[in-house]
Amino acid sequence: MAKRKLYECYSCGERKPYQQMTGKKRIRRRTRGECLECRRKRDASNRRLWDMRFRTKQAGAFMFLTREQLTELEARTNCAYCGEEFNTTITGHKQIDHVMPLGEGITARGNLTAACSSCNAGKHNRHVLDYYARSDKFTDELLDALIADLAAQNQCTPKSMRGLLESSRELMSERRAAECT
Ligand SMILES: [Zn+2]
Ligand SMILES: [Zn+2]
Repeated sequence: MAKRKLYECYSCGERKPYQQMTGKKRIRRRTRGECLECRRKRDASNRRLWDMRFRTKQAGAFMFLTREQLTELEARTNCAYCGEEFNTTITGHKQIDHVMPLGEGITARGNLTAACSSCNAGKHNRHVLDYYARSDKFTDELLDALIADLAAQNQCTPKSMRGLLESSRELMSERRAAECT
């Protein structure tokens, strides 16, 4: 039996048979194509990015998020709020959460984290500091780690990041109180 020719995928670098490749035209031109698996993964992450864009628009907020940033968040293994691993019976699956609620903030890497579905449901549209105050699992260490991560993304110090969160929490509770009266 003749040995099947293999083609290199430009995304994963693996060599695969013709049937598992996309970009047949490129292959015919002898430039590299992408494998179906990589294409599917990319389409799925693009869809999640579009979902996020849609939800952001619905909330009347702005979005500054790249696919790479979303991929980085999605690659996380532990919840930012309880520290537990994703996909256990307690934590449930991974979700991307707005640290300051979407209606109050923006969709940007500096306002996003990965949380388990259990914490995300518990937090709902609360501010991160309000959730911290009422959750037993959300420890000081976890809050410090979250603030350090957001500060790095926003290119500020953890101290000013904490200040930003505190003032946004105040603004938010003032606004919500005003809406109720
Ligand atoms: Zn590939
Ligand atoms: Zn959690």
